[in-house]
Amino acid sequence: MTDRIVKVALGDRAYDIRVGGGLLARAGEHVAPLLHRRFAVVVTDENVAARHLDTLKRALALQNVGCETVILPPGESQKSYAGFERLCEALLALKVERRDHVIALGGGVIGDLVGFAASVLRRGMDFIQIPTSLLAQVDSSVGGKTAINSRQGKNLIGAFHQPRLVLADVDLLDTLPPRELRAGYAEVVKYGLIGDAPFFGWLEENGAKLLVGDRALRTEAVAHACAHKARVVAADEREQGERALLNLGHTFGHALEAETGYSQRLLHGEGVAVGMALAFRLSAQLGLCDAALAPRIERHLAAAGLPARLADVDGAGGFTAEHLVAHMQQDKKVRDGRLVFILAAAIGQAMQRDDVPPAAVAALLGEQLAAAA
Ligand code: NAD
Ligand code: ZN
Repeated sequence: MTDRIVKVALGDRAYDIRVGGGLLARAGEHVAPLLHRRFAVVVTDENVAARHLDTLKRALALQNVGCETVILPPGESQKSYAGFERLCEALLALKVERRDHVIALGGGVIGDLVGFAASVLRRGMDFIQIPTSLLAQVDSSVGGKTAINSRQGKNLIGAFHQPRLVLADVDLLDTLPPRELRAGYAEVVKYGLIGDAPFFGWLEENGAKLLVGDRALRTEAVAHACAHKARVVAADEREQGERALLNLGHTFGHALEAETGYSQRLLHGEGVAVGMALAFRLSAQLGLCDAALAPRIERHLAAAGLPARLADVDGAGGFTAEHLVAHMQQDKKVRDGRLVFILAAAIGQAMQRDDVPPAAVAALLGEQLAAAA
């Protein structure tokens, strides 16, 4: 099977996203031509290192690329000042030079942290993304957003720093915990819902087979999602307009993540799944779209093993609409004090709105919570 190549058209910072199976073992062929000297540092986490680091090291060695490795503990807590400091010091201790490349081998945590470190180390180094989770392959590795978290909120300290290359090997998903795989799938569904009704139909047809491991379908879905995000990023790199549509489901989702304490009770993609269905319910309530769409979306998400309704969220019985709306008002998508929502006129026709009355949101949440009780 040949790789799929998606181009991210950003002028002199343009790069390729290569998607396919067995790519990690061939990584050296694609990495070596970018390097100024035959050396790179690979940063990964313990879970990924145990399963995939040797394959990458062998692939680099085949092209005579020497490498050093930094292996971090897994988890979101690495995206902190302390984690950032540890990584920068580790990289400097390995004597990275300004023209060297750092390779981020891991999920979105590794990608965001390594990307941010690369953006400032020696005033800016190049980096390569080898995303290993579905979320990272279809979302976080594409588009150049990098960040760590602040006590004030997630991803508040960061930079736009584009990678030089993204290698998405869909076979790496075989070792991803199934719940993480499904959570990443919610972001795949998102692309269909915001701007691509045929793709949503394709997912209704093929989603189940893709989740159980069909390599060709996975490649197709990841490449399609990356192509969508690449188009959006090329048109709106710094999220002044269209890029904001990628936040479908995220205003609700972040409120749910905050309410569940950013814990294993609700993964990010799970919050997005519930949030996307709520966004379609809100759209219907405001008269923007057909009321039959939210149930159709919920059916697809539930069939994929994702939570689709508020009632599916662990502890939903204890949530209140007031608390959830208060979380939304803390969100970084609040603009001039107004809540910003991505709503839709149909599947594939999303729009940004900042005129949704908070009372309408509270009413919808109240009704959904009553159904959960
Ligand atoms: P993650 O990096 O924590 O990975 C999830 C878990 O899966 C971890 O335990 C990890 O060790 C493990 N794992 C990853 N790949 C594996 C594999 N192939 N086999 C076995 N285990 C594997 O989380 P994530 O969901 O990949 O990413 C979430 C992060 O991404 C968040 O910090 C979020 O803020 C960020 N994010 C960034 C962007 C962006 O545009 N930069 C977009 C979306 C999300
Ligand atoms: Zn997301």
